[in-house]
Amino acid sequence: MKEKSQQNTKVLIVGSGAAGLSAAIYTARAELEPVVLTGPTLGGQITLTADVENYPGVPDRISGTELIMRFVDQAEKFGAKIDYAAAESIDFSRRPFVVETDSKVYHAENLILATGSKAVALDVPGEKELTGAGVSYCATCDGAFFRGKKVAVVGGGTSAVEEAIFLTRFVEKVTIIHRRDQLRADAAAQKAAKSNPKIEFLWDTVVSEVIGEDFVEALRVKNVKSGAEKVIPFEGVFVFIGHRPVSNLYEGKLTLENGQIPVDLHMRTEVPGVYAAGETVDGEYRQLIVSAAQGAQAALTLIKDLA
Ligand code: NDP
Repeated sequence: MKEKSQQNTKVLIVGSGAAGLSAAIYTARAELEPVVLTGPTLGGQITLTADVENYPGVPDRISGTELIMRFVDQAEKFGAKIDYAAAESIDFSRRPFVVETDSKVYHAENLILATGSKAVALDVPGEKELTGAGVSYCATCDGAFFRGKKVAVVGGGTSAVEEAIFLTRFVEKVTIIHRRDQLRADAAAQKAAKSNPKIEFLWDTVVSEVIGEDFVEALRVKNVKSGAEKVIPFEGVFVFIGHRPVSNLYEGKLTLENGQIPVDLHMRTEVPGVYAAGETVDGEYRQLIVSAAQGAQAALTLIKDLA
């Protein structure tokens, strides 16, 4: 087996979403030569969003990928280095902290943890087996494959409703399946969905099975009030029932609360020299601006602590 190369860094940022890249911009401008470990997807979750129209200063619609690539360019312009790799382990017990990827061992004087969050699965039979074969967690990525088809969206939050609206660009019909009879989504999204002729709602209903041989063919659903079950044909199902922090790297090493990393007001974790930002810390709002702001805060606190 090839020996891993060793690299010393002043600042290693784990994660390349809005939080990680904002931290990179700030620490790079402070000449701390940060290295960003991208994780599986450069840019993080915003790359799954087709249109961003609420990021201040960017009034025209822009895709999540396009916007986050501007973050990348800005970070690199100030000297941040991007390593297209994922952290496989972190040793917080000694400083410099030791972070391993598949090809490198980093010795980092300071860490900013910004590993974000990931979509929650329904956890019903058939879902795992048919993921990528009609079960999706990303309308932007997969919507175009469902041109002219009938699909279901599960969830009643802003993500579910906005993604259902997005899907109407391609599909014949979207059925939003929600476990209650009222949406949680914000008012603007609700209004747009309710007036969209391609969207219909199945209230008080949960999905109990995804059915299909090689591809999704139907969903078994259950009315939570009457208990009645039925099988409805669908050619795809998009699941948007919330997110969980990505914190497996920290389990047993840092204190976690519901999977989230607790931080002080200034984004310090319980370990001196380790900061955290973004949806690994708080997924309440899931906004680019919130994660970006937290990344900047973590970086500024780190810079202050070094001084
Ligand atoms: P939410 O937590 O808001 O919504 C999750 C939805 O899934 C809820 O309707 C919930 O039902 C339902 N749900 C949860 N668990 C299950 C389950 N096991 N089975 C069936 N249904 C389930 O998540 P979102 O990702 O939609 O939004 C998170 C945050 O991000 C919000 O603050 C939202 O406003 C924000 N956001 C903002 C956007 C924007 O600004 N453009 C875009 C997307 C999200 P119930 O309602 O009964 O709890």
